Amino acid sequence: MTPRQPGSALKPFTYAAAFERGWHPGRVLADVPSTFPTAEPGILYSPRNYDGRFRGPLRARLALAGSENVPAVALASDIGVPAVADTLRAAGLTTLGQTAAHYGLGLTLGNAEVRLDELARAYSLFAEKTSEVFSDRTRYWITHILSDPEARRYVFGEGGSLDFPFAVAVKTGTSQAYHDNWTIGYTRDVTVGVWVGNLDRTPLRFSTGVTGAGPIFHDVMLAAVEYARGALPLFDQTPIRDVPGGLREITLCAESGLVAGSACPARIREHLPHDAGDRTCTWHHATDRGVLTVYPEEYRSWAAPGTQHLAPRTAHSTEHRAPFLRLPPLHPARPI
Ligand SMILES: [Zn+2]
Repeated sequence: MTPRQPGSALKPFTYAAAFERGWHPGRVLADVPSTFPTAEPGILYSPRNYDGRFRGPLRARLALAGSENVPAVALASDIGVPAVADTLRAAGLTTLGQTAAHYGLGLTLGNAEVRLDELARAYSLFAEKTSEVFSDRTRYWITHILSDPEARRYVFGEGGSLDFPFAVAVKTGTSQAYHDNWTIGYTRDVTVGVWVGNLDRTPLRFSTGVTGAGPIFHDVMLAAVEYARGALPLFDQTPIRDVPGGLREITLCAESGLVAGSACPARIREHLPHDAGDRTCTWHHATDRGVLTVYPEEYRSWAAPGTQHLAPRTAHSTEHRAPFLRLPPLHPARPI
């Protein structure tokens, strides 16, 4: 089986590596114009998202489900490329023959070539009852995020080939220059991996993981689950994984990812470690004119009036957003 670039289909393993190192789905990542140092002195890396937009503070759940590039690179930068590479190898990918420095931060965006069978097997580690590679909470979080249609809706919309009438954890990927596209996913019973590409490596035209491999994945997944279960579990909304011990449900501010305060305009719930909920949101403040949002400095250029951006749609929002004021940036926009 010929190794090919999996693109974003590798991203869950960066998040899994981070979850093993103290991160959790409620922590925010910066989806803002950013530069990162590379192994070559003086060379900086400026990742871009698929649609060219920046969405500001993005909880890890939304960043992974929406497959945003910039937060994934920021996360890989935080934990280090060797941690990402070690995790991929531990998950059974045997084709990463180069050093972490060779791949660089692009590893999290899938610039290393992998085999379809090994990648599908690596995904199945998140579904299995026991694992020596990932903790129960990491496998629960990755699975819950990848099977959360609301969390990916702000990028992928709804009702497409990634949505099923029962819980399916799923991720797409598209390689550089559209040579390959992938959709990998799993339920409690089955794991399905689909690669679409040309054997002579000519680029696919007008095809991404959503439009190329996605519809095939959808049909194969339905057939595989029906075969495994005897019938499709059409009204079964049972999550793929149970909540593991040691986590408790905490109400977070949807924008800051900190514990929700009285002024926070939107809230979400996450199952987090007991010690994760010790900081209350400091971004939102009730005023006579509505809710004042005071962003940390790294978001102020992004949030400045007139800056083109798209605010993240908050999944699981239980309250309507109050009108809010934005602070002007303290500094001119940083050069990229
Ligand atoms: Zn808040």
